[in-house]
Parts: sequence; C-alpha cells; structure tokens
Amino acid sequence: MALIVQKYGGTSVGTAERIKNVARRVAKWKMQGHQLVVVVSAMSGETNRLIALANAIQASPDPRELDVMVSTGEQVTIGLLAMALKELGFKARSYTGGQVRILTDNAYNKARILSIDDQAMRADLDNDTIVIVAGFQGVDEQGNLTTLGRGGSDTTGVALAAALKADECQIYTDVDGVYTTDPRIVPEARRLETVTFEEMLEMASLGSKVLQIRSVEFAGKYKVKLRVLSSLGDPGEDEGSGTLITFEEGNPMEQAIISGIAFNRDEAKLTVLGVPDRPGIAYQILGPIAEANIDVDMIIQNVGHDGTTDFSFTVNRGDYARALAILEEVKSHISARAITGDNKICKVSAVGVGMRSHPGIASRMFRTLAEEGINIQMISTSEIKVSVVVDEKYLELAVRVLHKAYDLDKATV
Ligand code: ASP
Ligand code: MG
Repeated sequence: MALIVQKYGGTSVGTAERIKNVARRVAKWKMQGHQLVVVVSAMSGETNRLIALANAIQASPDPRELDVMVSTGEQVTIGLLAMALKELGFKARSYTGGQVRILTDNAYNKARILSIDDQAMRADLDNDTIVIVAGFQGVDEQGNLTTLGRGGSDTTGVALAAALKADECQIYTDVDGVYTTDPRIVPEARRLETVTFEEMLEMASLGSKVLQIRSVEFAGKYKVKLRVLSSLGDPGEDEGSGTLITFEEGNPMEQAIISGIAFNRDEAKLTVLGVPDRPGIAYQILGPIAEANIDVDMIIQNVGHDGTTDFSFTVNRGDYARALAILEEVKSHISARAITGDNKICKVSAVGVGMRSHPGIASRMFRTLAEEGINIQMISTSEIKVSVVVDEKYLELAVRVLHKAYDLDKATV
C-alpha cells in the first residue's frame, strides 16, 4: 500500500463527465489498496473567466480581493469530485486550502507555502477516506485567502506530497508526459521516460508549460518523487508510466546529450545605444528596471569603442512597454545616444545534463541555425543549457531543425 498524491489539471476536470472520469481513475487506485490525496484545479477556462471578471471592474484588481474571488474555481471542483466519488460508493471528503491549513505568506496572487497541517488528512486516510484538496490556494497567518500564481495547483500537489511524505506525486494532465519538445510544432517529438530534476527545472523556466516552476523547485527541495501522466484516456485502461522526474543522472555514456528543446515566445529585447563605457552604467540602466519589479533575463554589453558601448537585455513581453518607458526616462541622464527595442523575438533553448560530459553542443546549435539562415541575436549558457534569442518568425523552424540536429526524434538506448 502506498500513499499517493494525485493532481488533476483544469482540462481533466473541465466537464461533469470528465470529473466522473477522474473519480473512476481515483477509484481504480484506491481499489488497488492505496491511500489517496487528490488535488484539483479549477475547470479549464474558469480561472481566466474569473480574472476577466475582475478586470471588468478594476483595471488592476485589488490583490487581496482578486484572491478571494479567483480561488473559488477550485472550491467548485473539490466539491464535485467528492460527490462523484461518493456516487461510486467511496468515502471522500473535500477541503479548501484554508481548511487543511495550507499556510502561506501574504504575497497575494503569488503566495509561497510556509507549512501544511497534515492532521485532518491523516485522520481521513486512516479512516479509509479519499482526501480532496483545492489546488492553487492557501491562507496567510491572519486567515486571508491567498493564491499561489498561475499553474499553482501543481505546487499544491507537490507540497502536500512533501508534507505527507507520500510515496509518489502524480501530476495528471492533458499530455502523457514530458516531451522532447512541443509535439504541436514537431510531430516527431517523443515522450521522455525520465528527465532529471535539474533538466525539468530548466525546461520549466525556459518556457515548457508542463509543470509550474515552483512545483519543480519544491520537488527538488523535498525530494518528492514526481510523475507526469495523462488523464484523458479511459480510466479503465493502463495510463502508462508517463515521465518520471528523477534525481539521479543516468550513466554518462548512455545519457542523451540533449533531453529537450524548450522555447518561449514571451520575450522582448531592449537596447541602449552609445552610452559612456564607464563603471556604474549597468547599474544606472538596470537599477530603475529592477525597482519597477521587471525581471531581466539575458544581458549583453558589447566591448566599448570610442569610449561608448551598447547594452542590451531581455524582459517578458508583458513588461516591454513599461521597460521602454523607463529607459526613455533615464536616457538623457545616462547620456545614451538612442534606445531601441524589439518585442518580436523569442528564446529557443537546448537542455540536457549530458552537456556536462560532451563538448561541442553549443557549436552544433550555432551551425544548425546558420545553415537555415537564422540570425542569432543573443546567446546565454549554463552548465546544462544553451539559449539563443532569434526573430520570432523563426521560432518553429529553429525548434524543428534543432530537434533533428540533436537526434531527438530517434529513440535513445
Ligand atoms: N486554476 C489555476 C490556474 O489556472 C491554478 C491551476 O490550474 O494550477 O492558474
Ligand atoms: Mg497546469
């Protein structure tokens, strides 16, 4: 008998029929003798609908009140799933985040989990009851409702698994695992049997939307055994083994060099031209950007000539207009010649722990893109990834040729 935490995403609980399917799947695991804690998202589209409703009242909704209303989506699905399980003759009990007492800090809309009280859940599990918990939400010290950021139900699932020392945390979603890249762009993309925790972390931060990045961080910190599976098939059929996020790297000889190609369309680039090349200039440019709470990703400063230099950096596309306005404001103060920007760029990355033991990975990427006539605007690397910024119009082509260049369409050993 194992203690399993399962999380079902919005598509998996998108209709009454699908909720009944989830109940059947949960029932199947229960009948195999396992103890189950089930986390659910809101029905697909519901969180967006609630946010749009808030935006119709306030252009930038009050953060506390937004959490009060946007957390209701998950309250609907926990009740419905408990009903569906009761219909099947099982004991089930639903809990909101506050009822379990998922305690968070008070950063509304992006709260972090501080602690989880497992008492009520343990008592239910010991009493043969299936526990159902609302994803995405918690309460702060004062009892205010908080939410964990978009995609936050993944984090609820992993955090519960950590708190309960569950044997496994299964993330059920609308794909049957983590793929070498998005199969909508590359039909030959393959499901990975395993992916290392570090690779998953890179992929999540580089734009893969399979798991919320915080959930991966959480899994890493508490060594939660995490598996991504599909909930869309018939619950009676075997769901396969999905993708397991592992903490061990395979044998370096057998390890694939690259595990996946990730991408992010959500990027924009800003360039400050002809600033004096002197100490403090990076701070004068990026200080005001940081103060405005804008995340900066890649940064490039060219070698100075004639005593001046060009300075480029990337931000989320949503922050582009604000960043541009800030630079225009500091322009004369830093004696820049001009400010330019481009919000039609994207970032494409190759990720793999195998890079550590194989040289030449980056150059294969550059050669492949050159052969297609794709100009690289910026480059950044870490131990296990190489990222390039290219014109958005090349995104799909770049992903396709790189997927092929690293043999990701071929089965590995
Ligand atoms: N319902 C929330 C969202 O759409 C949380 C989640 O689904 O993970 O972001
Ligand atoms: Mg999700």
